[in-house]
Amino acid sequence: MRTKTKNTAKTYTITILGIVQGVGFRPFIYNLASSCGYCGNVINTSQGVVVNLNATKKEMENFLEKINRNKPKAAHIENIEVSEAPLRKYHGFRIEKSRESRQKFQLVSPDLATCTDCLEDIRNKQDQRRYGYPFTNCTNCGPRFTIIKKLPYDRAETTMDGFTMCSSCAKEYQDKTDRRFHAQPVACANCGPQVWLEDQNGTIIDTEEPIKLAAEKIKGGSIAAIKGLGGFQIACDATSSRAVRLLRSRKARPDKPLAVMVGSLFGLDHYYHMNEMEKNLLHSPQAPIVLLSKKKKGFVAQEVSFYHAMEGVMLPYTPIHHLLFDNLDIPLVMTSGNHSREPIASENVQAHENLDPICDYFLMHNRDIYSRYDDSLVKVFQGKEMVLRRARGYAPYPVTLGLYNGKETILALGAQEKNTFCLLKKNYAIVSQHLGDLDDMDSAEFFKQTLGNYRKLFHINDLDGLVYDKHPLYTTTKFAQDLKSRKKTSFQHHQCHIASVVAENRVKGKVLGFAWDGTGYGTDGKIWGSEIFVYEKGQFARIGHLTEKRMPGGEITIKKPYRMAIGYLACLYPNLTKQKDFPDFVFDNLSHYRDFVHTEEIKAIAAQMQTGFNSPWTTSMGRLFDAVSSALGLTHQISFEGQAAMHLESAAFKQCTERYQPAIEGFLIDDIKMFRQIVQDVARGISPAMISAKFHNCLAFAILEICKKAKKKFGTQSIALSGGVFQNHLLLDQACTLLGQHGFRTYTNFKVPVNDGGISLGQAYLAALKGRKET
Ligand code: ZN
Ligand code: ZN
Ligand code: FE
Repeated sequence: MRTKTKNTAKTYTITILGIVQGVGFRPFIYNLASSCGYCGNVINTSQGVVVNLNATKKEMENFLEKINRNKPKAAHIENIEVSEAPLRKYHGFRIEKSRESRQKFQLVSPDLATCTDCLEDIRNKQDQRRYGYPFTNCTNCGPRFTIIKKLPYDRAETTMDGFTMCSSCAKEYQDKTDRRFHAQPVACANCGPQVWLEDQNGTIIDTEEPIKLAAEKIKGGSIAAIKGLGGFQIACDATSSRAVRLLRSRKARPDKPLAVMVGSLFGLDHYYHMNEMEKNLLHSPQAPIVLLSKKKKGFVAQEVSFYHAMEGVMLPYTPIHHLLFDNLDIPLVMTSGNHSREPIASENVQAHENLDPICDYFLMHNRDIYSRYDDSLVKVFQGKEMVLRRARGYAPYPVTLGLYNGKETILALGAQEKNTFCLLKKNYAIVSQHLGDLDDMDSAEFFKQTLGNYRKLFHINDLDGLVYDKHPLYTTTKFAQDLKSRKKTSFQHHQCHIASVVAENRVKGKVLGFAWDGTGYGTDGKIWGSEIFVYEKGQFARIGHLTEKRMPGGEITIKKPYRMAIGYLACLYPNLTKQKDFPDFVFDNLSHYRDFVHTEEIKAIAAQMQTGFNSPWTTSMGRLFDAVSSALGLTHQISFEGQAAMHLESAAFKQCTERYQPAIEGFLIDDIKMFRQIVQDVARGISPAMISAKFHNCLAFAILEICKKAKKKFGTQSIALSGGVFQNHLLLDQACTLLGQHGFRTYTNFKVPVNDGGISLGQAYLAALKGRKET
């Protein structure tokens, strides 16, 4: 080896922190140093990777720059510390044995999509061990958290422990210069897991090429379950209306958009708007579903996402997917293997139990899935990646806070829907993967299992703080009673939405926060959902919201937006005591209700609005969107959360610049007056596209007006926007643009979901903040 240690060389110790283990970092450093001719060594330690280097200051700086520029795709560098060590002369460059780590806390990479080198191996006919082998991986790619049982990350602690490496694999595993050096799940056709195809009855179909046969069956119109990385996926031909409709009916998922997997991005920009960032995300090791704006119809059946302006697209991320697409020339619907709302099935037996009514074929394998992870969902918002469902490839990568919690560990249990929990240690907030809605038993079980798993993985025995939502009936509130912790605290839902923005953006000082979403339990026992807070140092003052009104019949109205629209009309009706005339008032204003709403139901709603029977007070913004959607004849009943609001957004004529008067008094937004203007427009025959646009414009304008007022009164210049309503691209885009034009600094959620998936981060942050200074 050519070495060039000069006399002027010093010895530097470079400590690289972050996700630098299990991602091919040491071979990368080894090759980099060797190619530069530097002497020294590299070691995995409990903290990260440590490099000792003989070099001049300039060479060292050059080396650092090369690390930053060329680091393995899957590595995340949090920090690099450099110190000069006592002079020591190294000969050559070596990868030293890992230092036995007794340290309890370590970051490991999430699962990584198949890398291009492995893809080449799979397609290389000369490679007898890996040609067509569906479990090919290396240090740059492959499963991680879905198979890890315990840390440190070692093969014996993964679900690969049952497979003994053949001598060829073992050689690769031990060779420091090999791409598979210490790749824990390393395997080949001779020694690793295998795939096979089963029919609905669990009978194995006799074939040499199960993946090819699965592809043929799907092409022929069948629905197949595919055992993937974090669970089962359900696949069908996305170009076939018949297949997609069949999948929808069998899965009891009539309306919710489905994600599509494509073999490559080739030709895709014909159908979708795609910028560089979106392409990069699709190709990233995290390989999420990326929401893309539709450009032209016809790529997939319209039943895939109906009227929605965006469609979720992803690329193959395991060898099984790649091999499937090698035998296909169509895009596939690729959705998680579950009935609606249940967590994804992961074990073979359970998969048959759950998916037999849905799937005709099962592409199985014998590498167990230890942890279940859904596909993650992201979009690009104003040039930044925004995570909407955080799971495979993202969790449990931590959110690094500008707050140090010392040795104490806090567990935050999250919300009821789109649940995640969060473990906070030091300055790391480890947010779990998306766990689903805890109303259902399976999800609640999944929550407990995953929590147990995380506590084991990150060596968390005792809890110093436990945080949960104020809602007395949340499943997590019950969990909180059963868990042991030194301290237990509950926080209000919408405050946690705002705190999640402050936490991930490390916002300092006073903040004006808009927490707009469907529901949340308010500190007064009412259902909140449009709250405006002045926030400072963990303290909240609720200064504004929508007009309080009844939600007629409670929960049922969430499923039936037309009931909320009628509720708004009741607020506009001059004399509610004359209930018998009220149906005529409704039909006069919104004539399309004649077709499907019974006068008796209208009378009942009027009575509920008047007496408040079974009809809680609410300030929910989500319900306003529901009511408007239904009033415009768009969605009257929903089968998934946010459906009516999504329909309303999709309908909006984006070029429209008109708006309604927001009617703001103090910091209160009078949405009943807003609704009156909408009903008037409906009566005048204005199109839903225009009305929807005027409505969105009005809300964005209301945000701006309130920010201006609050700036005068409270001196707030930083604005936080959070809550499920801000999944609305149009509203968020308009609000951020307007606020930016007026000199406000606007923050929202990018790293954790803006919906309830981000609640646990906010909870943990508020608990950690008590008695601490932000750094
Ligand atoms: Zn690889
Ligand atoms: Zn092998
Ligand atoms: Fe919420």
